[in-house]
Amino acid sequence: MNCSLCKSEIKIAYRLEKYGIKGYVCGSCYSKKIREAYNIK
Ligand SMILES: [Zn+2]
Repeated sequence: MNCSLCKSEIKIAYRLEKYGIKGYVCGSCYSKKIREAYNIK
């Protein structure tokens, strides 16, 4: 399984469907997106 965003291999898969991202993302892309969503820099 690979991350939909950075294409690296996922150890723990996260879903970002409510942010319009299909499939699964890795932990670092997930936290990045969450920070963007809440506008945390
Ligand atoms: Zn990723």
